[in-house]
Amino acid sequence: MTDIIPSESSTPAPESRRDFIRELVADDIATGRFGRAPATRFPPEPNGFLHMGHAKSICLNFGIAREFGGTCNLRFDDTNPATEDVKYVEAIQRDVQWLGFQWDALYYASDYFEQLYDIAELLVQRGKAYVDSQNEEQIREGRGTVTSAGTNSPYRARTVDENLDLLRRMRAGEFPDGSHVLRAKIDMAHVNMIMRDPLLIRIRHAHHYRRGNDWCIYPLYDFAHGLSDAIEGITRSLCTLEFKDSREIYDWLVAEAGFENPPRQMEFARLELDYTILSKRKLLRLVNEGHVSGWDDPRMPTIAGLRRRGVRAEAIRAFAEVIGVARKDARVEIATFEHAVRDDLNMEVPRVLCVLNPLKVVITNYPEGQVEWMEAQNYPHDVPKTGTRTVPFSRELWIDRDDFMEDPPKKFYRMSVGREVRLRFGYFITCTEIVKNDAGEVIELRCTYDPETRSGQSPDGRKVQGTIHWVSAGQALDCEVRLYDRLFAQPDPDDVPEGQDFLSALNPHSLVVVSNAKVEPSVGSDPVGTRYQFERTGYFMSEPESSTPERLVFNRIVGLRDSWAKELKKG
Ligand code: ATP
Ligand code: MG
Repeated sequence: MTDIIPSESSTPAPESRRDFIRELVADDIATGRFGRAPATRFPPEPNGFLHMGHAKSICLNFGIAREFGGTCNLRFDDTNPATEDVKYVEAIQRDVQWLGFQWDALYYASDYFEQLYDIAELLVQRGKAYVDSQNEEQIREGRGTVTSAGTNSPYRARTVDENLDLLRRMRAGEFPDGSHVLRAKIDMAHVNMIMRDPLLIRIRHAHHYRRGNDWCIYPLYDFAHGLSDAIEGITRSLCTLEFKDSREIYDWLVAEAGFENPPRQMEFARLELDYTILSKRKLLRLVNEGHVSGWDDPRMPTIAGLRRRGVRAEAIRAFAEVIGVARKDARVEIATFEHAVRDDLNMEVPRVLCVLNPLKVVITNYPEGQVEWMEAQNYPHDVPKTGTRTVPFSRELWIDRDDFMEDPPKKFYRMSVGREVRLRFGYFITCTEIVKNDAGEVIELRCTYDPETRSGQSPDGRKVQGTIHWVSAGQALDCEVRLYDRLFAQPDPDDVPEGQDFLSALNPHSLVVVSNAKVEPSVGSDPVGTRYQFERTGYFMSEPESSTPERLVFNRIVGLRDSWAKELKKG
């Protein structure tokens, strides 16, 4: 496969599509390999909100369970007391459900501490683990390098009794942090560095958000993860490629712990998305250092941020389907995601008229005080949704400033003096005169309309090239529009000069607030959170947190086209 997944690629693949992991699961069923139905799990650490990378993993794990009649657990991998919090546990559950998935069982790795401890004693009794009393640095040095073998710890030859005694006293809280660790006894010359007596349990006198101060020893990732899978009867433990080298310790541990038909780990490519950071640790910095308003800032690649921005779960699932599952890491173009978002909203949301950058138009031959209600189509194709509304037309209108040019080039089919344009659902109008203020800025256009062209129909077949959007000044609602853009200004935010970090790649224009936009009155009665296409502008949703009937606020979900592609071509 290529390194870049092309944007605007195909429509979502059919459900029958089989990637290499689904092939494997189908084969598990055909051969009865595990003697049980396919069982997957999604195992987030509750140390941050879920992001789009997690969404990929969720769609994969829950999708497989659904497609193959298996189960999928949600398991909180909460074995690190320092960084975890119940607020993340709650956010993660909400986000998984919002994405459209329901777990078969909900587990916490911290509920397995007793079982994991028992397995630790078992390993010690069988001579497969020992307590090492070297410090961190000595342990690191003893591990050797990729090209040279490590050396055995001076404590490696401790007797079973001595090890058991120390392990029990570690648990009882007799020792300070860092004084002892439990290590697997494997091979300090192993070609796989991870297999050189990996650490299993460390001492950490810390408060755990669920277990309180019950525990002062905590299992390390490799020890906790595979065994938690085995305890739950998982069949395929799906994880990202950076854990490939951990597969050996995974297999070693579940075998030594005596599990029959243990789960098997299988790796897939992690999602990396252009103009985005997919790492909870870095996203946490954006939140803590105030670069965004929170985890659910609409610019964040978190599920909560995307939801608040107005992206639908359907779009995220369709995106996961389009990018598929691969064995090799690949960056995905952001345009692929934006395409999925547009594709999802296109048939789904009604069109309305909104002017972001208003310029006054006065129709000099239109009767003063008259208001006509024009019929307007809500959906352009009338499939699958239908409906019409009415929009007021009057002598004074707003059009978008971008739709007017004083000295237009030839192919500019919008408003300029002497050229006729069609007002969407309205009349043909021709600009006759420009009004400027003292500073020389255009503040008003004086126009005439042709009464024979109501609803945009030409009476004599004369051609009008341009159709522009507008709202009637007397009835339009003032609103605020938040134009969200990419959070980072470059495809790979980590690709910055030496001495700088990803923060220096932040896009300073990722939020532009338009405070005096004008929207047609029909939206005034819609509930907060309604999505629209503002014709010729983009997709928007009324902002759930801050929009009120008195003051409408809209988030831009996505523009109509990829405006960045144009920028890049210009550059
Ligand atoms: P982060 O670096 O953002 O904290 P993580 O892998 O440490 O990510 P976890 O909470 O441990 O976060 O991840 C839960 C699951 O989500 C894991 O199975 C992991 O493989 C998967 N996952 C995390 N990030 C991605 C990604 N970018 N693409 C695909 N899967 C991911
Ligand atoms: Mg992790």
